[in-house]
Amino acid sequence: MIPYTKPFLPPREEYEAYLPGIWDRNWLTNMGPLAIDLENKLADFLRVPQVLYVANGTIGLQLAINALGLSGEIITTPFSFVATTSSIVWQHCKPVFADIDPGTLNVSVDNIEKLITEKTSAILVTHIFGNPCDVYAIGRLADRYGLRVIYDGAHCFGVKIGEASVYTFGDISICSLHATKAYHSVEGGLIISRDQELINKLAFMRNFGFNGPEKFAELGINAKNSEFHAAMGLVNLKHIDELMSKRSAVVKYYDFKLQQVNLQRQAWFPGASRNNEYYPVIFENEASLKTCVQEMNAKDIFPRRYFYPSLTRSLPYVTPVSMPVSDNISPRLLCLPLYPEMTPKEVDEVCSCIQ
Ligand SMILES: *Cc1c(COP(=O)(O)O)cnc(C)c1O
Repeated sequence: MIPYTKPFLPPREEYEAYLPGIWDRNWLTNMGPLAIDLENKLADFLRVPQVLYVANGTIGLQLAINALGLSGEIITTPFSFVATTSSIVWQHCKPVFADIDPGTLNVSVDNIEKLITEKTSAILVTHIFGNPCDVYAIGRLADRYGLRVIYDGAHCFGVKIGEASVYTFGDISICSLHATKAYHSVEGGLIISRDQELINKLAFMRNFGFNGPEKFAELGINAKNSEFHAAMGLVNLKHIDELMSKRSAVVKYYDFKLQQVNLQRQAWFPGASRNNEYYPVIFENEASLKTCVQEMNAKDIFPRRYFYPSLTRSLPYVTPVSMPVSDNISPRLLCLPLYPEMTPKEVDEVCSCIQ
């Protein structure tokens, strides 16, 4: 069987080495020493001033919207994971969808501008499959109209634009450390911002708003993560270079095997690195994608239609709207199986179905 993805598990002894310390300290959660250590190491690794380690990426998005005090309309993408849209609705804001660019698969900045009204408070868009949005153009637009910018950076752990982490753009970025992502802590998320005041506020918010044992600084929620999750994050971080280089080798081999096949690829943001978290290919039409998926399934290969259908078509709490580009791309896009331990033989099997 070739699954869509295989969560990475480190050698068990490496995880177990953290357990005696947890038992000795009897400190299981609430920003213990392992969580703090993980935050420091991740800030170093990502080259950002500070990160907040939270329970998951979705609550990171919800906290970001809340901390910025957003209301009214938030311009967002129809082509992403459900959490991008649901977080907006959860925070009682209205998602307004801007269609994507057919090359980059990220929201087109021209489309954002057309949708700005006096009710717009922010732009919340995804760096889809790790490909950075046009952060410079979005930054200029936001400045011109006085809008806040949140990036759903769930897919782009480690991605840089030139020397700068993709997470240094916008007011707030979030990352997901879910088990299926390129780097994970089983469950987990990161909130990143260069604005120290905002970070301080968010740090209170993730812990019920507590400021000391008997004082509250903010309205908060429980978005903390545990020492057990932090331990997994710390162990996996030791393997990050090896994981990234294995992913890159799998992707290079896919590229080589598929160079003769007529499949459209995502246009990558100039100067940005890749973390090879996904291997999306776009078929000429949905029928050929379906034939290919059938053939793969018959051989116990399980690719994934990501993200299908578009968020403007599938959510009971979103009024369907027509998104010509997203509606056209989404039914034709397939993410091929990809995980660090994937063997050349497995890639061969996937590619033979496509050919
Ligand atoms: C995985 C993902 C999320 C959610 O992250 P969780 O940590 O699972 O809550 C949000 N946005 C996108 C684009 C994702 O792929």
